[in-house]
Amino acid sequence: MNNLWQRMHQFLSNPMIKFKSKRQEREFNKVDPRIKALTFYISLYFHENLVKLPVVTSVLRTQREQSSFYRRGLSKIKRSPHMYGRAIDIRLRDIPKNDAIKLVNHVNMYWQRRDKYETALAHGKGAGYHLHIQVPSL
Ligand SMILES: [Zn+2]
Repeated sequence: MNNLWQRMHQFLSNPMIKFKSKRQEREFNKVDPRIKALTFYISLYFHENLVKLPVVTSVLRTQREQSSFYRRGLSKIKRSPHMYGRAIDIRLRDIPKNDAIKLVNHVNMYWQRRDKYETALAHGKGAGYHLHIQVPSL
C-alpha cells in the first residue's frame, strides 16, 4: 500500500472533525467551500498542536435564531455570517486559554483577510467559549 492511500484510509476511517449533533453535521455540507477548507486546516492544527479533534458546535443560523440571540444580548449583530454559510463555531472550552489565543493568532496570520475583519476570533463566556471563523461575502 502506498503512503497516500494509507493516509486517505486513516482520514476516512477516523474522521478529522467532530460535530456537536447531527444538525451541525448536516449543515456542514452546505457551507461556503472556503469555510470547509478552513475547518479542515483547523482540524490539522488541532491534530498537530492540541492532540484532539475539533468539535463543531454551530454552523447555520436562521434570521429568527439570530434575532433571538440579539434580543438576549448573546450577539451584538442583527445579521450574522452564520446565516449565509460563511461562519462556523468550534468548541474551545476544554482548551487552555493560552493555546486558544495561539490558535486564533495562527489562523489570522495565515488566513488574512483584505478587509477590516478577522478570520478567527475567540469569544463566549465560560462553557460557551468558542472559536468563531468567518469568510467575507464574494
Ligand atoms: Zn460564530
